[in-house]
Amino acid sequence: MSGDAKLVYLFSELNEAESRVEDWDGVRGLLGGKGANLAEMTRLGVPVPPGFIVTTEACRGYQDAGALPDAVWDEALAATEQVEKAVGRKLGDPHEPLLLSCRSGGKFSMPGMMDTILNIGLNDEVAEGMSQSTGNPRFVFDLYRRLVQMFSSVVLNVPDQLFEEVLSAARRHAGVMTDPELSAGDWREVTRRFKDIVKTHTGKPFPTEPRDQLKLATEAVFRSWGGKRAVDYRNAAGIPHDLGTAVNIQTMVFGNFGEGSGTGVAMSRNAATGEKELEGDFLVNAQGEDVVAGTRQTRPLAELNDFMPEAYAEFEQIARQLETHFRNMQDMEFTIERGKLWVLQTRDGKRTAQAEVRIAVDMVDEGLISQREAVLRVKPDQVDFFLHPQLDPARAESRKPLAKGLNVSPGAAVGVVALDADTAERWARDGGKDVIMVRPETKPEDVHGMLAAKGIVTLRGGRTSHAALVARQFGKPAVVGADSLEIDLDKRELIADGEVVKEGEWISIDGTNGIVHGGQLPTVVPDLGNPYLLKILQWADEFRRLEVRANADYPRDAERAREYGASGIGLCRTERADAIAELLPLQRNDFAGLFRAMDGLPVIIRLIDPPLHEFLPAYDELIQDLADLKVRLQHMHTMSEIDDALDQIRVKQDFLERVSALREANPMLGSRGVRLGIMIPELTRMQTRAVFEAACRCAREGVDVHPEVMIPLTAHVKELQVQREALENEARTVMTEQGLEVDYKFGTMIEVPRAALTAEQMAGPAEFFSFGTNDLTQTTFGISRDDAEAGFLMHYIRNGILADNPFETIDPEGLGRLIELAVAGGRKVRPDLEIGICGEHGGDPRSIALCHALGLDYVSCSP
Ligand code: PEP
Ligand code: MG
Repeated sequence: MSGDAKLVYLFSELNEAESRVEDWDGVRGLLGGKGANLAEMTRLGVPVPPGFIVTTEACRGYQDAGALPDAVWDEALAATEQVEKAVGRKLGDPHEPLLLSCRSGGKFSMPGMMDTILNIGLNDEVAEGMSQSTGNPRFVFDLYRRLVQMFSSVVLNVPDQLFEEVLSAARRHAGVMTDPELSAGDWREVTRRFKDIVKTHTGKPFPTEPRDQLKLATEAVFRSWGGKRAVDYRNAAGIPHDLGTAVNIQTMVFGNFGEGSGTGVAMSRNAATGEKELEGDFLVNAQGEDVVAGTRQTRPLAELNDFMPEAYAEFEQIARQLETHFRNMQDMEFTIERGKLWVLQTRDGKRTAQAEVRIAVDMVDEGLISQREAVLRVKPDQVDFFLHPQLDPARAESRKPLAKGLNVSPGAAVGVVALDADTAERWARDGGKDVIMVRPETKPEDVHGMLAAKGIVTLRGGRTSHAALVARQFGKPAVVGADSLEIDLDKRELIADGEVVKEGEWISIDGTNGIVHGGQLPTVVPDLGNPYLLKILQWADEFRRLEVRANADYPRDAERAREYGASGIGLCRTERADAIAELLPLQRNDFAGLFRAMDGLPVIIRLIDPPLHEFLPAYDELIQDLADLKVRLQHMHTMSEIDDALDQIRVKQDFLERVSALREANPMLGSRGVRLGIMIPELTRMQTRAVFEAACRCAREGVDVHPEVMIPLTAHVKELQVQREALENEARTVMTEQGLEVDYKFGTMIEVPRAALTAEQMAGPAEFFSFGTNDLTQTTFGISRDDAEAGFLMHYIRNGILADNPFETIDPEGLGRLIELAVAGGRKVRPDLEIGICGEHGGDPRSIALCHALGLDYVSCSP
């Protein structure tokens, strides 16, 4: 923390904050996203209750010192005085008291953090004074008990359950069902008992000095940054741990002042579909947490127009203004206190993948953002969503749903019911099960279960509930507010219309339509026909440099790939478990199909790669068969039976000898790849013949063919030279026979470190390189691609020894370095060397970014 830098900013001091950091991103880093937007709204003239921000820098100071540095607190006290002046009320003054809220707000929103404490500044004296000045002790003691409850559970770690028990007892005692029916006397009594709980539980009375309350609350927010929940969340969301959070201290305004007051949340566009319509929920006579918690049934925002038309009109106008200003869909919170509108928060709204693409395209049409920005806004996993399964409509539509709720996060999920977050996590992580987590509602402490689950169902809550926000953020299909469901936690079961689903039994959810089905329904992959998505992808095509090819072995895959815009085939694997003599005509037909589908585009065909034994009968099976035959022989009587069995035994015995001779301890490091082509030259000849006969046949039909023949697993330039010669001879023979010339390329895979290190030599015979990153990962790490993920590798990842699974995302430091060397070496010899990647990493966004950065020409991935 630099010595003299300002650590606390009033909302009205945005200009000063901006003068310290370069740009808006810097402002958000310093003030947190929520604080930066509150300050920006204040500058825009939006009615924001006055307040101030204790910066993320102060949080880092707190983390370093383990306590709130004096300098921070001095500035916070001075800022409090400024706020007191601005609103004309004082903290702790029984007649004109200022009440404050305290909220966390980092650069990125984080449901894993301590969230909010309201009504700071209340104590017995202030409560009495306020009761007189408002003439509404019921209202005041409701505020007071909320302060004691929130403060004690988040700052003093008193279990919330204790307070909930007092509340239910109070309702029982008063003979009412809901909190709003409790009287002033009831709330007074509840408050008293809450304070008793604090004293019993902590050994100290509830802090009565408002400035102490403020300081303790601020420290609690800073402390919660380092809490397990927040750390887990940051790990899952990829948020750096050293950012720190800011704290927002803001004047309270009250939506629970009676019928002329209310509170609500709103999105400037539909968060599920992206349609341009203001949507949200509100409650009359309520505080904000009532809306978010989903404990009271909210009303659709449009109805606010009937209750308070002026406030509604003003809010509508502000929503438009904020959206235009921030050039993004906004998620806002507001409160109306006795007819006066206040905006408490605005931020970019979380939304579904469909909404994201639609809003991006619409905002380009509206002139708010450029095409480039639109493309950058849509994240790879949001595009990926469109490839995700939906429930098969043919099966789902004919069934009676188990329950209906709100369709807050689309897509289908099928899994077994888990009724709490720990169970969901355990079953998914250790048991490898697909799980649907079903809860009454979700809270930040449930996030680990939500992350582990395939889908989420809640019985309560609305579109802006915690469950909905988190599900959307992580792309988990979710149905919330399925209120016809009941959970019986004692019996661990779910009840719907008398039907019982036990925990551990299957359900299927449709987050697109908000439906929960019993059982395990089939799913279907949707087509990529969404017009907004197509627009985004079309723009992306205009900006991108990397080509995208497909890994396709069969004509129908090639056709699908071409339909999706592939610019060639990056890998056709040519292995089949058929006898080699039968291979030629089959392969010729497949290759012809590929050339036709990719008319005008390159098609890379790789010569045979897998270990030879994969084409032969399994050793263990042969041993077993022979033993069985010999046993049967002893029970045979007729000569013809015996002759027959002896024949079979002889054949199996021959096979066994051959298979034993070819058996290897490490087949993946044995007779495979280029080594096969060298040991069995007929293989190379036969495959080359198949490629060129198919190419000539297609060329004669008028297809524009561009075959590229690729050699797998090469480690030494000599291997390539030998193969190139064999290939050229055969290709020439075929083209002479056919009386036709076709243009072709000869190239190599780079999938062992030696090939990468000697790329300069390899680029002599090779006209193109393709990184086989599956094998390159195996050979660089020295771990088996077939076994590692079932063994130690997952342990490594869980324990942070490796940050990522290297078979999923290219290891940037090891493989990345080898790729970089190979690109440089290859291009030194052949500046126009065509270079791509065809391992599974070709479909992984981070790996693609790396390929782009390393100057590759294309990635090739599954169609
Ligand atoms: C690779 O190793 O990355 C590759 C594409 O080849 P295969 O997966 O067929 O070994
Ligand atoms: Mg390979």
